[in-house]
Amino acid sequence: MYKVSIIGASGTVGRYAALAISRIPNVREIVLFGRSSSQAMLESIARDLLDSFAATGIPTKVSWSSAAESLADSKIVIITAGVPRKQGQDRLDLAYQNAEIVAQYAKEIVCVAPKALIMVVSNPVDVMTSVALASSGKDPHHVFGLGTHLDSMRLKSLIADHYQVHVSEVHTRIIGEHGESMVPLWSATTIGGIQLSHFYEFEAPNLPFLLETVKKTGQMIIEGRGATEWGPGEAIATIVRVILGNENRILTLSAYVSREINGMGGVCIGIPVLIHKQGVHPVAIHIEEDEANAFRDSIARVKAVTEEIMMLLKEKEVL
Ligand code: NAP
Repeated sequence: MYKVSIIGASGTVGRYAALAISRIPNVREIVLFGRSSSQAMLESIARDLLDSFAATGIPTKVSWSSAAESLADSKIVIITAGVPRKQGQDRLDLAYQNAEIVAQYAKEIVCVAPKALIMVVSNPVDVMTSVALASSGKDPHHVFGLGTHLDSMRLKSLIADHYQVHVSEVHTRIIGEHGESMVPLWSATTIGGIQLSHFYEFEAPNLPFLLETVKKTGQMIIEGRGATEWGPGEAIATIVRVILGNENRILTLSAYVSREINGMGGVCIGIPVLIHKQGVHPVAIHIEEDEANAFRDSIARVKAVTEEIMMLLKEKEVL
């Protein structure tokens, strides 16, 4: 039985992730962590969760705190803390603000819970994963980000809808940046293990349109209801379930790639990783040439921002 802590649990993604994680059988305790100014909110979330556990018969313990010591003995610490983008603010400014928050928390985690795996959700998630890795000084197998897991799930759902099959029959993957330069691996997309091009009775889906839909989904949800919540919350809980259950699944997460994909890497970015209790292990693969070219561009884009943010953090002595 394990303890899982969520930093930024007063936010939309963090609090829904807490509910989703509470349904995982081997979770003993959840810590809702946030700033001291948010303790009243965290207490209310905890009490509401406990009511839901009473109704469903879940025995999970829930506490709330702003003291780093409360993270001790966590198996996984999830960082969802971050500021939303303000009007007129550019992505780099936002990235720097969130980088300071993530760097600070990553240092605290490593002091009080040195064995914990760190899962980063705050955006831009690939850059924040590099920040958490650098500031924690942890082994790269123990720090990872939500990456393109949710994007991959969105694509899977669109393909399942087109072919009118259950989502579990679809295998697909989006690698690269969780953002504009994400790269769908059409060559690795199958239904029931059969390549899309082999389904001759079906009209082929418009693949560029599907990709554009995936890219726009998050923004569309934010415009309609203010925030994404259930999608990222369930995606986070899936990862927690896979780790605690030692399931050895291959998910597409943000992790440090050295040279695993066609010899490319040098940054944290969305790639297929084998994931289990010991953390994440990038899977070495060769992808098609056009996919490799797009992945190279995505790496270059993420690397440029990551290097700029790292430089700023060093200048301000945050790193
Ligand atoms: P939200 O509702 O605005 O919540 C933000 C959380 O961050 C709150 O707990 C807030 O705490 C905390 N926070 C804000 N400023 C802080 C600071 N200076 N120091 C410490 N904590 C601070 O946002 P959300 O919708 O939950 O999203 C959270 C993050 O996840 C965002 O960065 C978002 O872009 C990202 N996200 C990523 C994905 C993905 O696929 N990677 C998907 C969805 C969301 P207070 O209550 O104290 O203000």
